Amino acid sequence: MHEISLCQSLIDKVQQIAVTHGALSVGLVTLRIGPLSGVDPLLMQHAYPFAAAGSLAAESKLLIELSPLRVRCEGCCSETEVEPSFLICSVCGSHHTELVSGDEMTLMSVELVTRGEVGHV
Ligand SMILES: [Zn+2]
Repeated sequence: MHEISLCQSLIDKVQQIAVTHGALSVGLVTLRIGPLSGVDPLLMQHAYPFAAAGSLAAESKLLIELSPLRVRCEGCCSETEVEPSFLICSVCGSHHTELVSGDEMTLMSVELVTRGEVGHV
């Protein structure tokens, strides 16, 4: 269950952003997760309210976007989108590929509520 500690560090980051901007609370938090990040979106959703409790994000919602998996081919240099179980260049079929994106977890945006206004960071 490393999602709980991931959620905790996510909330720490969100809390820091909210405090920096003098926000009263946090609305929507958008997170992007790559298919090879090893993070389970469902477990993240489940752990989120527990991690958020007591913070400025206590009433917030977590939106998870799945980022595409991309590889760069060493043979023909093209960059293509692939399936997680099939890291092969879709142009020339080479196995010699390098992961470009798909193993990251990125905080995309945080909706902040300040004195009756809603803003995005
Ligand atoms: Zn190729």
